Amino acid sequence: MSARIIDGKAIAEKLRLRVAEEADRLGLRPGLAVIIVGDNPASQVYVRNKVKQTEEAGFTSFEHRLPEETAEADLLRIVADLNGDPRVHGILVQLPLPDHIDPDLVIRAIDPAKDVDGFHPINAGRLAVGQDSLVPCTPQGCVILAKSVQPDLTGLDAVVLGRSNIVGKPVAQLLIQENATVTVAHSKTRDLDEVCARADLLVAAVGRAELVRKHWIKPGATVIDVGINRVSAGPGRTKLVGDVAFEEAREVAGAITPVPGGVGPMTIACLLANTLKAACRAAGKPAPRF
Ligand code: NDP
Repeated sequence: MSARIIDGKAIAEKLRLRVAEEADRLGLRPGLAVIIVGDNPASQVYVRNKVKQTEEAGFTSFEHRLPEETAEADLLRIVADLNGDPRVHGILVQLPLPDHIDPDLVIRAIDPAKDVDGFHPINAGRLAVGQDSLVPCTPQGCVILAKSVQPDLTGLDAVVLGRSNIVGKPVAQLLIQENATVTVAHSKTRDLDEVCARADLLVAAVGRAELVRKHWIKPGATVIDVGINRVSAGPGRTKLVGDVAFEEAREVAGAITPVPGGVGPMTIACLLANTLKAACRAAGKPAPRF
């Protein structure tokens, strides 16, 4: 059996179009502010893509490119200004930040109503207690991809590999809301391969290249691979691989996301959906569900 490949690129494109259409239908022009500090090359690429796709959706993009040596107090001042700017509905501070800036402090400075990354403790708390919130983008993307295979996840055994605040934990919360039976595994989990092999739905978010092997996967399972790992591809060349050994996993899985082209593209699409949601709330209009 060869797994169905879940086309994250196509699903993300459809979502971006729907978000743009809904904004248009509601007569809203959502504004997204992106702040980047320093010149981390990967962050530069992400921010370029975010700005491009924001503009393509017909949203207003506010870009703040700050030098590496920016003082924490100056960054906090910019965040405060954006909190007070009615044209801005979403604020995203690209991580990682330089070492002299405390990311938790910066995240907590963002107005929770504009926290489109969903990282503010208020939004994390609301998600944990099942209240409406701005949900982190990559986890949202994972659930949309899983539901593209099986719209109803009720009763499935789901294993989330990784327990970070930005991926693993929110994915687990969302899957609980979808009525899956959720196990969260991490670096201290015993018999990790056996735990994973029980999963009807396996979400891998560990950041370890091709950790998940064929025998870790239950035949027919849906596998969502969040990992983005750059590895050597011969002399002077590199390539991106996920946390799952794709070529062998596809022989047993029922459906699987590729890397690249799986979860990655969903993140920006969900960011736009969150920005529209924030803009709807600011305008006192009901937010569309995607
Ligand atoms: P973190 O490093 O914050 O968390 C990794 C988690 O994996 C931790 O909970 C850790 O366990 C667990 N882990 C690490 N090694 C092992 C192991 N050998 N066995 C079992 N568990 C292990 O990573 P993130 O959650 O931020 O990101 C995970 C991956 O997802 C990365 O590759 C990242 O690049 C990618 N990513 C992709 C995004 C996208 O597609 N847009 C967005 C965000 C992330 P413990 O807690 O015990 O240390």
